[in-house]
Amino acid sequence: MVSLFSLFYPRVCPMCGRYIGDKSVFLCEHCMGTLPRTEQAVERQNSTEMALVGMRKDIVAALKVMHLTRAAAYLFYEKKHPIQHLVHKMKYRDQPLIGYHLGRQAAMEMQDTDFFDEIEVIIPMPLHPRRLRERGYNQSEYIARGIGDYLGVDVDTSHVTRVRNTPKQALQSGEGRMQNVADAFAVNHPEQLYHKHILLVDDLITTGETMRSCIRAMRLIRGAKITVFALCKAQ
Ligand SMILES: [Zn+2]
Repeated sequence: MVSLFSLFYPRVCPMCGRYIGDKSVFLCEHCMGTLPRTEQAVERQNSTEMALVGMRKDIVAALKVMHLTRAAAYLFYEKKHPIQHLVHKMKYRDQPLIGYHLGRQAAMEMQDTDFFDEIEVIIPMPLHPRRLRERGYNQSEYIARGIGDYLGVDVDTSHVTRVRNTPKQALQSGEGRMQNVADAFAVNHPEQLYHKHILLVDDLITTGETMRSCIRAMRLIRGAKITVFALCKAQ
């Protein structure tokens, strides 16, 4: 997979559209320099962790109850920032390689922190099979593969699945959304993942409700530790 991906660096920067002469880079120098990085890999009780635990006061204790070691996003999904354009292309415009490259870049930049230490398997947030057929790919899997290739860790797409299709979240809010994502996930053969340290990867965390639902389903995986990585955290 790596060698195949390396053939496909774009000639124009997918963020600003500028021509890139150097085919060994994915984003132009300007865009690479101005990505809205969160630095959450070295920040505990960050906004991604807070989104996942809800309103509870003791965030570290609340994470422990959820079998979460920690959570971080690589980028802030800022309104009116070109990052929105880039993420939109990755999700809806048939350019999933953007996810692969950003995942790889995140892993490279976070290698000096202990964030990815002892991760044994990487699981991307699954799409429902129907959504996957419509879109043709799962963008979170591409992000996961970018991270996995850099770290040398396997990506697993078979154990955690989405069993209920939920309406597009943009059309929903509040309670309706919460009911819709409850029990939306299933874990097949949880015993094969017992006591593993799992990196759960998503493209964008907004309310955290979908991720919480997935983590709830993963309670069947006895003794597992879960670390959450999101490419973006909505602000
Ligand atoms: Zn650019």
